[in-house]
Amino acid sequence: MAVECEPVIMSRIEAPPDKDAAAPGNLLDRLLGGLPAEAVLTDPDITASYANDMASFCPAGAPAVVVLPRTVEEVQHVMRTATELRVPVVPQGARTGLSGAANASDGCIVLSLTKMDRILEINPVDRIAVVEPGVINAALSRAVNEHGLYYPPDPSSWEMCTIGGNIGTASGGLCCVKYGVTAEYVLGLDVVLADGRLMSTGRRTAKGVAGYDLTRLFVGSEGSLGIVVRAILALKPQPPEQLVLAAEFASGAAACDAVCRIMAGGHVPSLLELMDRTTVKAVNDLAHMGLPESTEALLLAAFDTADPAADLAALGALCEAAGATQVVPADDAAESELLLKARRLSLTALEAVKGTTMIDDVCVPRSRLGELLEGTERIAEKHQLTIGVVAHAGDGNTHPTVCFDAADPDESRRARESFDEIMALGLELGGTITGEHGVGVLKKEWLAREIGPVGVEMQRAIKAAFDPLGILNPGKLF
Ligand SMILES: Cc1cc2nc3c(=O)[nH]c(=O)nc-3n(C[C@H](O)[C@H](O)[C@H](O)COP(=O)(O)OP(=O)(O)OC[C@H]3O[C@@H](n4cnc5c(N)ncnc54)[C@H](O)[C@@H]3O)c2cc1C
Repeated sequence: MAVECEPVIMSRIEAPPDKDAAAPGNLLDRLLGGLPAEAVLTDPDITASYANDMASFCPAGAPAVVVLPRTVEEVQHVMRTATELRVPVVPQGARTGLSGAANASDGCIVLSLTKMDRILEINPVDRIAVVEPGVINAALSRAVNEHGLYYPPDPSSWEMCTIGGNIGTASGGLCCVKYGVTAEYVLGLDVVLADGRLMSTGRRTAKGVAGYDLTRLFVGSEGSLGIVVRAILALKPQPPEQLVLAAEFASGAAACDAVCRIMAGGHVPSLLELMDRTTVKAVNDLAHMGLPESTEALLLAAFDTADPAADLAALGALCEAAGATQVVPADDAAESELLLKARRLSLTALEAVKGTTMIDDVCVPRSRLGELLEGTERIAEKHQLTIGVVAHAGDGNTHPTVCFDAADPDESRRARESFDEIMALGLELGGTITGEHGVGVLKKEWLAREIGPVGVEMQRAIKAAFDPLGILNPGKLF
C-alpha cells in the first residue's frame, strides 16, 4: 500500500471532432450543464487526492475534474459529455483497491460513485437487495442482518469499500471458502454505457438464462466496460453466529497439510485463514492483540453450523493430526470476533512494518499451497526482504506481502522483483496471478502471460464492443 506515482500517458483516445471542445473550460461548462455545482470538484489539491487507490508502484495521472453524481441521469450526462469530447473517465468507489485499477489518468474525469449510496430495497421473499454502487459493504451487511438475511462477500476492507468497487474487482473475503465470491451474488445490473445509454442486465428472479451472461461479464471488469449504477444482489438466510478456532503450527507446511486434510475430509468451514509468524507479530505490534508469536503459522477456522463446537472439535483433531502444536477454540462469539479482527488487520499491520507494502494476490490449487509458501520464503531470503503471508487458505488464495522502505531505491527494486517472482511461482503451480484484487495497472503484463495472446485479443474485442472510443478507464487490464 502507500503509493509511488508517475504520470500516466493515455494517448490512444481520438481527438474530438472540434479540437477546442475538450479544453478544460469547455469540459467544465458542459459538465455543469447537467450536474449541480457541488458535484463538480476542480480544486487541484482536492482532485489530486482522488488520483490513486491503495496499490504501490502504480502510475497515476492528474484528473481534470472529479464529479460526484447522485443520480443515474447525472451519470448519463457525464458519459455523454465524455464521449462527445473524447475525455477519459475513471470510475471510482472508495479507492481501497490494491492494483491501481481506480487510478486517474492525465486529464480524465474521475467519476466517484460514493454519493450514490442508497439501499433501494431489501426483499426477504425474493432474497435480494437492490443497491446503488456507493453503498459500503459493511453497511449493506448490517442492513440485511436486520431482516434475518446475509450478504456473504466480506473483504477485509468491508468497513470502507463499496459494492460498486466490489463488483468492479470481483471481490472475495474471509467467508468465500463456504459462500463464494461477489460474482456469485450479483444477479443483475443497471449500467451506464460509454455513450450514456442505460442498459439493464440479468434478473431479480431465482433463475434465468436469457442470452449471454452480461452481468457476469461486468463483475471484475474494473470499470473498463461501463458504469454500474444499480445492482441486484442475492442474499442468504442469516446463518447462526460462527465460532472460531485458532491452531498453531511449527511450520507453514504443517498448516497447509491441515488445510488439505480439512478439505479432503469434506468439511465446509465458514472461514479458513492463515497468518504466518511475520503477520502475527505485525498484528501484535500494531494492535497488542496477544496472538502467539512463537507459532510459525496460525490457522483460523470457523463454523456457522447448528453445532459449531462439535464441528470445530473434528476440525481441531485434523489439525492435531497434521502436527498442530496447540488448538484453541474460542469460548464465545466475542472471542471469535477478536480473532477475526486480528485477521482483518493483517494487511494494515504489515504496512506498518516498513511503511510500504506490495501485496501479491496469487491463488493456487489448495493442494499446492504448501509449495507456494515454501517458494515465497525462498524468494524473501534471496532478496533479503520481509514478506509476510496472510491467506484465505481454504481458497488457496494467498497475499504474500512484501514489506519495504519506499525511500530506499534498491529495496524498492528488490520488492518489485520479488512481487513478480511470486506471481511467476503462482502460475508455475497452476494458479492465477489474482484471486480477488484484480489486474489494474499493477499486473497488466502478467494478465497477458496468464491468458495468452488469443485470450487478450478476445478480451480487447469485448472492450471495443462496449467502449469503441476507449474512454473508459483506459490503460487498465491490457
Ligand atoms: C486493508 C485492505 C484489505 C483488503 N481486503 C480485501 C479482501 O479481503 N478481499 C478483496 O477482494 N479485496 C480486499 N481489498 C481490496 C479492495 O478493498 C477491494 O478490491 C474492493 O472491492 C475495492 O472497492 P472500492 O470501493 O475501494 O473500489 P475502488 O478501489 O475505488 O475501485 C475498484 C475498481 O472498480 C471500479 N469501479 C468502482 N466503482 C465502479 C462502478 N460503480 N462502476 C464500474 N466500475 C467501478 C474502479 O474503476 C476500479 O477498477 C483490501 C484492501 C485493503 C486496503
